[in-house]
Amino acid sequence: MTKVSEVVARFEKFAPKWLAEKWDNVGLQLGDLNQEVHKMMITLDVRPEVVQEAIENNVDFIFAHHPMMFSPIKTFDLSDPQNKMYAELIKHNITVYAAHTNLDNTNGGMNDWLAKSLGLENVTNLIPVHSQKNCKLVVYVPESHVRHVLEALEEAGAGEVGNYTGCSFTSTGLGRFIPNESAEPVFGEVGKMQEVREQKIEVVIPEKNKQQVIDAILAVHPYEEVVYDIFALENDSSETYALGRVGELPKPMTLQACGELCQSKFQTAGLRLISQQKNKIIKKVAILGGSGSKFYPAAVKKGADLYITGDVTYHTGHDMLASGLSVLDPGHYIESICKPEMLKIFNKWSAENDWNFDIMISTVNTDPFIFI
Ligand SMILES: [Zn+2]
Repeated sequence: MTKVSEVVARFEKFAPKWLAEKWDNVGLQLGDLNQEVHKMMITLDVRPEVVQEAIENNVDFIFAHHPMMFSPIKTFDLSDPQNKMYAELIKHNITVYAAHTNLDNTNGGMNDWLAKSLGLENVTNLIPVHSQKNCKLVVYVPESHVRHVLEALEEAGAGEVGNYTGCSFTSTGLGRFIPNESAEPVFGEVGKMQEVREQKIEVVIPEKNKQQVIDAILAVHPYEEVVYDIFALENDSSETYALGRVGELPKPMTLQACGELCQSKFQTAGLRLISQQKNKIIKKVAILGGSGSKFYPAAVKKGADLYITGDVTYHTGHDMLASGLSVLDPGHYIESICKPEMLKIFNKWSAENDWNFDIMISTVNTDPFIFI
């Protein structure tokens, strides 16, 4: 059986927790990471109706976008609907995990899905927030253990270059050493020069994972003293992660038409336009799912004709208007795009890893707003 921790480990390779904003509360919300998964459910929000749906479907692992725990509980009073919901989750052994701003910021995550669904082209980042620098690791391994070390390296996330994983280069040579009296060598004798056929493995590793990769090598390498070098890389092999995306519509259209496009793509019952010219022609669009109103100056700076984001407040709306930027607020619920998109991704990982549990998406509409 597959444990929640295995599913989470695969997910965190795609959207590591360090990509989350500091104020966020991503990761395990409630339950046990060592629990086996029989049925998993993907949801945007964890609400009492969603938990009820999970119970009815025998779900034991909920993967949510929005963290359900933001305020600490002082009294576990079950007359409070939120606490009652936690109690129901515990009673039914349901583990809840949340991937929030790490899923927003990762490449191929939330904001890429939103940009793609509008058909935006030449998509770039709106606000870079993190960058991951790579370095080069070189390790010398006796031929008998090369396979083990290569597997450990891949497992620890080494050798990822663009769309390729498991990248490395090896060259063969002779290693030599004289063990001293305190040594307990795997090969050779104390005080005698020993030569061993070794391979030199070169691999790119993310600087943030450096220690994890070294630990993985040390766990499988047979030598008492493992020789490895780490080099800084001058070439730009770093990866940037950003809040929001900017891109171009395939064909310029009016703001009114953009609103209609959003309404049909995101299936919103209504949306708000912050502009005084519904006929303004829009070509360049910035998009940031969720509550991105405070980031509107970045859209202005990028020369966007339109900024699409949710939860815009009255006074921020005034500031947006004054800046000359047109803004479209389709609501926060457009992030429910994460349900079908994460289902596709989890199904792919499930096939690759022989996971033997079902994955479903919540069918509950958790948008608190309706239009009359
Ligand atoms: Zn959100």
